This record gives sequence, structure tokens and C-alpha cells, in this order.
Amino acid sequence: MKVKLILPSLIESKSAFWRPIKYSLFPPLGLATLASFLNANDEIDLIDQHVEKLNLNDNPDLVIIQVYITNASRAYSIAKHYRERGIYVALGGLHVSSLPSEAAKYADTILIGPGEQIFPKFIHDFRIRKPLKTYTSTSGRTIQNLPLIRRDLIKREKYLVPNSLVISRGCPHHCHFCYKDDFFKGGKSYYTQRVDNILHEIESLKGKHLYFLDDHLLGNPQLANSLFDGMTGMNRVFQGAATVSSILEGNLIEKAAKVGLRSLFVGFETFSPENLQQSNKSQNLKSNYEKAVRRLHDLGIMINGSFVFGLDNDQKDVFKRTVDWGLNNAITTATYHILTPYPGTQLYNKMKINNRITTQNWNLYDTRHVVYKPNQLTAEELKTGYNWAYNEFYKWRNIFYASNQHETLQHQLKHLFYTGGWKKFERLWNFIINTGGLKKMLPFLELLLSEVNNINTEQNNDRSIKVSA
Ligand code: SF4
Repeated sequence: MKVKLILPSLIESKSAFWRPIKYSLFPPLGLATLASFLNANDEIDLIDQHVEKLNLNDNPDLVIIQVYITNASRAYSIAKHYRERGIYVALGGLHVSSLPSEAAKYADTILIGPGEQIFPKFIHDFRIRKPLKTYTSTSGRTIQNLPLIRRDLIKREKYLVPNSLVISRGCPHHCHFCYKDDFFKGGKSYYTQRVDNILHEIESLKGKHLYFLDDHLLGNPQLANSLFDGMTGMNRVFQGAATVSSILEGNLIEKAAKVGLRSLFVGFETFSPENLQQSNKSQNLKSNYEKAVRRLHDLGIMINGSFVFGLDNDQKDVFKRTVDWGLNNAITTATYHILTPYPGTQLYNKMKINNRITTQNWNLYDTRHVVYKPNQLTAEELKTGYNWAYNEFYKWRNIFYASNQHETLQHQLKHLFYTGGWKKFERLWNFIINTGGLKKMLPFLELLLSEVNNINTEQNNDRSIKVSA
């Protein structure tokens, strides 16, 4: 059987002349995971349109497309094209799960929720020519004994971070603006792989660098603990994401740093307790952001801070306050978002009832456009403030300023090169991508993520004892 798995690109990343580096970072692990449920003699074509051309003049037996909100219109037009040629099309992914009736119009089959349990059933039914219209994941979710992910289908040379991996599904928290709860409704919303399988997968990955794409790497402290024990001596450097509270609790973060954690994505989101309450982000309430930042910096871990603008308690001063805080606290990179009410979330449902949704053009649901009526700002103020924040944070003088907040020259230089490298050399990245040089950049990334001397080990240990007490 010939199966084509497609990850359509976002609208903006399709240009052959301009490819932002952010679209060439991670391979499509979700599709490579689904591919592991196919037979060894199936002919599989896995295409990530972010990094390669999509040939539409072929005749596979089955096309499977991963749909997320900003690629939905492209995904639907690809689906339409194949169906018009009489080829069977299945759609799955976050957007399909949040708007199944919309997706069903463009598909022969839709897959709702995480794929590991329903995809094998769909493939079985397809082979015996009795596929259903809808498969919904509910009970029995697990990723404990999955077949090996088909990394052989991934074109490693096209990605800066080919060694990305996902060791869990979902997250233990329930923020109202997050897609997660809707995607996992009807069953477990947080579950993990077995640690021996994770270690086995890590061992199979060439090179030094790893990127854990999990929503919350420290979400299951017991698993994280065993994982970091198992990674001792592996000589890896890695990046991941975690919550503020998990950084402050116990000594997990020290263990992670010891075995190679060098940068962490942290969802600070907002400084307003009212906003946090509105978002049900209770894991941030009472947490001391600055204490978390100090702890990470003392361990030599760089921080990618995530911040959301446009929550109901935000006023005009929120942009400057947020940027200043990031600079004064030497946050390495900041990711700013305009609040986006994704369909299916509690936030969306509430806004819909209150007549606050201003467009259902999903292309604009990219956290860079205002798609709802803000509470204490106009839509224009929100958009202008968001643009200003990005420009301001990444001005050279501010990059120098933030770097200088670190105590040692080694920290300062590392911050300067990492931030500058990501954000100030877009043209150079574009050139590297277009000339096929990405794989040569990995050693530079590994060098940037090498260990810096921990100046405050003793203070750190003290802090860890106090925090966990
Ligand atoms: S902590 Fe992050 S991943 Fe988890 S529910 Fe909140 S926003 Fe979603």
C-alpha cells in the first residue's frame, strides 16, 4: 500500500525565497509516529511542506494530513485535490479535534484526539475496505509500548534540530487558553513513556544535542527524576519546557542541569494575579518568577520566556512592563503572543457567548493578530503594543543590556551570541536553509549550549533546600 503523510505548511512559510528558521527547526514527529503503525512493506512518503516541495501529481492509496489551525486552509485544499482524484484522505491533528464538523467536509475519515490508539484501528479497517467516517480517541490511552518511531523517514539534513523527541502527551495543568484540554477530552490528558524506552531512544540519536518538545518536561517528577538519573554519563546537551512552579520545587532542575539541560522554555505569560486566575494558570500563582529566573541562571540554563498580551486585566502599560522585566532579568529570548482564543478552548467558548470573537479566519489565529475584542485595550493598541514589544526586546542595545545583567563574562557572551544568533541574522539563516547548510550549524548550536561555570553552586544548594522545605 502506498501511503502519503503530509504536514502542510503555514501560509507564511510557503515562499521559496524566504524561509524563517523557526520552520526548519523540528521534524514532523507526529506523522513519523503514525508511520510506525504501518507495515514494513508499505511504501511511505512523509512530506513536511515547511522544508520541501509537495508533489501533488502522484497517486497514493491513502493520504493522511496533519491539520493545525493556521495550516487548515492549505490542508483542506490539499485534501480536496486528492479526493477529486479519487484518493482516500484522512485528516487528524489539533484543528480536526477542535472542529470535527468543519474538517469532516474535506475528509473521507477524520481522526479525533491523540492518534496512537485510533490510528492502528483505522489502518486495519482501511485495509479491509471498511473504514469509518470518524475515529475518536477515548479510553485506553497509553504511549508505554509504542513501536519505534520511524525516524528513517525524516530528512534529518533539512532540520536544525533533528534530535527532537516527545516523551509524554499533554500536560498536568488546565489553562483555559490552552488547546490541550479539548484535544484530550474523553480520556487521560497527561501520560508518559516508560523511562527505559526514552533512554533507548536517546541512545539511538546521533550527535550531542536533544530537544524535548513536551509541553512540560518536569510534569511527572518521578519520571523526570529517573530520566535524569539514566542520562548521567550520556554527555548530552538538551533543551525543553517547564512551568515556573516546577523550577522552584525540589531539586529536579539541578539534576536536569547536571545531565545537560541548557535552555528552558518557561510560560510566565503574565504578572497579573487576576489574569492568571482568569486563565486558570494556578501553577504560576504565588510563584516567584524572579526566584525561578535566578535559579535557572545560577545553573547556567538560558531562558526562553513566554508572555501573553491582551488578557482582560492588561492595560496600556503591560507592554513596557513586560519588556523591561525580561531585560532586567536577563531573559535570553522572549516569545510574545497576542492572546488567541483557539476554537474548542474554554476561552473561546466564553468569548463566543459574550460576542467577543471578531473573526473566524483561522489563518489569523497565529498569536500575532487580534481576533477578539480585548477588555481594557483596543484591538489596535494590542497589535501595536505587541509589535513594539518584539522590536524593543530585540534591539541590539537591549540585547547588550540584558546580556550585561549576568554576573560572568561567559554568561554574558553566551546570552549575546544565542539571542543575536536567533533573532538578528534572519537573512543569514535564510541563506543557510536555501543552500542546504543547516546540518553544518548543529555543532555551533551545541557549542553555544555547552556548560558555563556554575558560580553559585553553594547558594544554589541552599536555595534548593529552602524552596523544598
Ligand atoms: S501549562 Fe502550558 S501546556 Fe499545560 S495547560 Fe497550561 S498552557 Fe497548556
